[in-house]
Amino acid sequence: MDIDLARAWVQAIATAVDQHKDQLTQLDSAIGDADHGVNMHRGFSAVTTALEGVEPDTVGALLVKAGTTLISSVGGASGPLYGGAFRAIGKMLDAPKATPGEFAHALAAGLDSIKKLGAASPGDKTMIDAYAPALASFQQQADAGADLAAAALAAADAAEDGMRATTPLQARKGRASYLGARSVGHQDPGAASTALIFRALAETAVA
Ligand code: ADP
Ligand code: MG
Ligand code: MG
Repeated sequence: MDIDLARAWVQAIATAVDQHKDQLTQLDSAIGDADHGVNMHRGFSAVTTALEGVEPDTVGALLVKAGTTLISSVGGASGPLYGGAFRAIGKMLDAPKATPGEFAHALAAGLDSIKKLGAASPGDKTMIDAYAPALASFQQQADAGADLAAAALAAADAAEDGMRATTPLQARKGRASYLGARSVGHQDPGAASTALIFRALAETAVA
C-alpha cells in the first residue's frame, strides 16, 4: 500500500457508493430509516472533495483525513463508525508505504475502533459481520506471504460472504434492532457497504 493506492482506493469507494447508492438505501428502507445510500454518498463525496489538491506525506495522513471528513459530513451511525475506522487505520500507517502485514494490522485497528464505538459483536447483524471475516482472510493471506492484491481479493470475497450471512440474523445493534425478529430475512445495509469497501480495495490493488 502506498499513498497513490490509498487515494485510488478511497476514490474507488466513492465510485462504488455512487453506483450502489439506491441499493444501499433500499436495504436500509427494509430494516432502518432508508438513508444508508444517501449517508455513504454524502460522506464519500465529501472525502473526494476534501482530498482534492491535498498531497499527504504518508498513507496514514490521507486515510485520517478521509475518516475525519466522514465523521464531519455524515449524520447517521455509519459516519462515526466508518470515520473512526479510517482514522484508526490511518494512525497505524505513518509512512509513505506499508507492507501487506502492516496494512493487516491497520485494518485490525479499524475493526477495533468500530467495535469500541458501536459496542457490537460478530453476529449482531452489522458492518462487523462483513468486516471481521474480511480482516481474517486478509490477515491469513498476508501471513502466508501474499501480496496486497491477493490478500484484498480474499478479503473482498469473505466480506461478501459475511454480508450475505447477515440475512438470517436478528439485529442486536443499531436501528434494525428496534424491529426485533422482524429484522430477520433482510441483508444488513452496513455489511453491504463494507463489502463495497473491500471490493474497491481489491479492484484498486489488482489494477
Ligand atoms: P443510521 O442507522 O443512523 O441511519 P446508516 O443507515 O448510515 O445509519 O447505517 C446503518 C448501518 O450502520 C447498519 O446497517 C449497521 O451495519 C451499522 N451499525 C449501526 N449501529 C451499529 C453498531 N452499534 N455497531 C456497528 N455497526 C452499526
Ligand atoms: Mg439508516
Ligand atoms: Mg439515519
